[in-house]
Amino acid sequence: MQVPQIDLKREYKFIEEEVKKATEKVMASGYYILGPHVKELEEKIASYTGVRFAKGVASGSDALLLTQMAIGIKKNEGVITTPFTFFATASAVYRRGGIPVFVDIDEKTYNISPDSIEKVLEGGRKEKDGTIIKHKGKEIKIRAIIPVHLFGQSAEMDRIMDIAKRYNLMVVEDAAQSIGAEFDGKRVASFGDFGIYSFFPTKNLGTYGDGGMVLTDDEDLDQMINILRVHGASRKYHHTYVGINSRLDEIHAAILLVKFKYLEEFTKKRAERAAYYMKLFKDFDLSEFVELPYVHKKATRHVWNQFVIKVEKRDELKSFLKEKGIGTNIYYPMGLHMQKCFEDLGYKEGELPITDKVSRKVLALPMHPFLRDDEQEYVVEKIREFYNGV
Ligand SMILES: *Cc1c(COP(=O)(O)O)cnc(C)c1O
Repeated sequence: MQVPQIDLKREYKFIEEEVKKATEKVMASGYYILGPHVKELEEKIASYTGVRFAKGVASGSDALLLTQMAIGIKKNEGVITTPFTFFATASAVYRRGGIPVFVDIDEKTYNISPDSIEKVLEGGRKEKDGTIIKHKGKEIKIRAIIPVHLFGQSAEMDRIMDIAKRYNLMVVEDAAQSIGAEFDGKRVASFGDFGIYSFFPTKNLGTYGDGGMVLTDDEDLDQMINILRVHGASRKYHHTYVGINSRLDEIHAAILLVKFKYLEEFTKKRAERAAYYMKLFKDFDLSEFVELPYVHKKATRHVWNQFVIKVEKRDELKSFLKEKGIGTNIYYPMGLHMQKCFEDLGYKEGELPITDKVSRKVLALPMHPFLRDDEQEYVVEKIREFYNGV
């Protein structure tokens, strides 16, 4: 049996006719950039999230970069974030000349640890737009926090918003993997000054290409994004800022409008798949070797973008499963603080010990809405076979 980690072709078969019709309509319309489909999608997703404004942009990475531009992160200003995330979370800060200040994660949820955020800020000198701290031998002003809602589960937004308020920091929620997730009954991307989504194909709402969105409740911040995504032009050919070219294409918005109709149904299917894995692992009693995903009690809706287990002999298990036709992925093999391109930030191995430890053990199993019972049974059976031989 072949069980890929994600199977987008099966999903495409399910919506093929609708997508073909929608995209052909766009192509025949002659209207390709910032037209009616983008606007409709922005309205639908803002309302789904529970915020007033949304702007479609070219990718989740650009969405993050645009928030840093709109906030006005400047050279040597710091933004606190997690090292256990996709690269774009931190590169958005770095590309502005800012300093990503990495803090360690929670050992159970793998999300940013509020205690670690607090520790960095304690004793800092508060200003109107941030808090000055001593960081790696120099004084920097921390301006913002970027929590990431990893694998479909919300970070601890009550504590993060409270810290941000006390230290005068902005909050940008990276919800690229977690559209529809909730914390204490409230949707992610609606807590902070900004929230962002990615429409990369493997995300819960993905298109057949790149796309992203910036969400906010603040009209001025929304206007900044609106201007920055068209080269900073507040009127055509009148540039108030040096922005970038970053729009969601009409054709992707049309595809996303089709897929958006199924988002709730697919999210429910993901949760059923996750529950079935949990049951299978318990039935096989693999607790000695496999640590299952932990759901925080206030993360009232996990949307299961990934089903990530923590295991002994991870790399050997991954190769074994590959031989058996089972696709897995490692999110993430290394904390961002250890990336070559961030050498100048001055982190050493062991400085963020939980991230180091977790990144050596995580393994993402096959997960998508069209996964079948027999495929999941096969995956867990093969994992049991591997550990029987250990
Ligand atoms: C996918 C992802 C991004 C970037 O999104 P793209 O659309 O691929 O640019 C940013 N942050 C996280 C956590 C992601 O998973």
